Amino acid sequence: MNKYSLYINGKFVETKEKQNIINPSTGRVIAEASVASLKEVELAISSARAAFDKGPWRNLSLLERKAYIFKIAQGILDNAGELAALESANTGKPIKEATFMDIPSSAKSFEHIANNFESYLQAEVVNVNNEANAYLSRESAGVVVLIVPWNYPLLIACWKLASALAAGNTVILKPSSLTPVSVLELAKIINNAGLPAGVVNVINGSGSIVGEALCADKRVDMISFTGSNEVGRHILEYSSKNVKKSIMELGGKSASLVFADTDIDVAVNSSLCSIFLNQGQMCTAMSRIFIQDEIYNRFVDEFVKKAKRIKLGSSDNHETQMGPLISDAQRKKVSAFLEKAKAEGAKVICGGKIPESIELKNGYFFEPTVIIEVNPKMHIFKEEVFGPVVILGRFSNVEEAVELANATDFGLACCIWSSNVDFAKELSRRINSGTCWINTYGMFYNELPYGGVKQSGFGKELGKEGFLEYTRLKNIIVDQSFDSKPLVNYWYGF
Ligand code: NDP
Repeated sequence: MNKYSLYINGKFVETKEKQNIINPSTGRVIAEASVASLKEVELAISSARAAFDKGPWRNLSLLERKAYIFKIAQGILDNAGELAALESANTGKPIKEATFMDIPSSAKSFEHIANNFESYLQAEVVNVNNEANAYLSRESAGVVVLIVPWNYPLLIACWKLASALAAGNTVILKPSSLTPVSVLELAKIINNAGLPAGVVNVINGSGSIVGEALCADKRVDMISFTGSNEVGRHILEYSSKNVKKSIMELGGKSASLVFADTDIDVAVNSSLCSIFLNQGQMCTAMSRIFIQDEIYNRFVDEFVKKAKRIKLGSSDNHETQMGPLISDAQRKKVSAFLEKAKAEGAKVICGGKIPESIELKNGYFFEPTVIIEVNPKMHIFKEEVFGPVVILGRFSNVEEAVELANATDFGLACCIWSSNVDFAKELSRRINSGTCWINTYGMFYNELPYGGVKQSGFGKELGKEGFLEYTRLKNIIVDQSFDSKPLVNYWYGF
């Protein structure tokens, strides 16, 4: 059984308190991890602070930082098989998904940033009235706390880490205490890459103790949080005692609008993926799919027929299409949502229960579930379930579709399915969401920013905009008469 320590100030630190790490497919213990106390939190913050204030990291040339970041990407690729197996075992996601999505995408996020951050850091030079030259320059944000959820533990950690490090920050990374394994493996890769001590610190422990102590500390300059709306709001409240920059990537209740002129087969297949991938435990899950009247019956029949065929199984089986939920608690939460929906008048037409198969009895499995006859007043319409549960609804015209899509407090993503792309592009402007996919779902690109609006949070990950979140903007103004040769390709990475 693997044993994991914390990683603080360039050293692996074992603590007295230990935690068992569970495989949700079997309910069995697969590893043991050290748990941080407030002593390790203090050590991590002071190490990151010293490494930022006195250490070499932010003063390295961009070329040197780039080399380190490439080394981390290579380290992930060199250990890809083992990382995929661990990620799959710890989260329950099918091994195919971990192998072909999570792990390569984690390495790519470092590669992309290494190749592009220099251009992202270029200052804008503005001449004002022939009086002054202003250099809008980027500086490192400082000590950044990165808080990560359990659904994509390594990938989300890498999105944050790649940008934070390239921008010259020092970091304290806290994975979810349910899924710390891949991130603690990443700490070994970072250590092997030879980053200066204190630049990256990884500590495991509960959000309410370790997470809170990190985010509340005045020596921390920035928080990058991905998780639930509830915890995000709580962090904003208590961390506001000292002013710090935050980005909040929170939950969603995203809508997919399927118009009658779409290719139904493509829309059905992609819509299945948009809710049942990763057992529906995705912030961008299309948990509300609205279909135009003319094709409603056909869409629902096809969707349910295929949902019933989804193969549930242990995450290490290459045939498995859907694994278990992350924990028994999460499964209970999903079941409770369904009970409430039924009590409010919704109808379950597929799944809705724990599978009876004997091979699945020890894991936290739940059947792919389809609900109809839901209205915007019901809890299941408004609240994030974070499991394999989808609402299929109908609309007759564009106005009704927009109203249904926007009838939620969240604003993370949406999908539009129509063969009329010009119409879909126009329509996308009327939906409250940070991302809109047209005739596709779930395309995340390192080149493009991603993030929500309304209760889904603020700030971006990925792309130039996501990278720049991890910097501070400084305006340097020079009297033009003293600045006869303005630096056009000026960057300021300190
Ligand atoms: P939680 O909000 O419960 O936890 C997220 C992280 O925050 C965990 O590491 C958790 O630690 C930590 N945490 C909990 N309490 C505190 C606190 N008081 N202070 C600081 N940190 C704290 O989310 P889940 O892990 O359950 O993830 C699911 C949620 O994440 C869903 O709502 C989903 O939509 C959202 N999400 C959003 C994404 C986006 O990009 N918008 C992407 C992926 C998920 P611990 O668990 O160890 O206690």
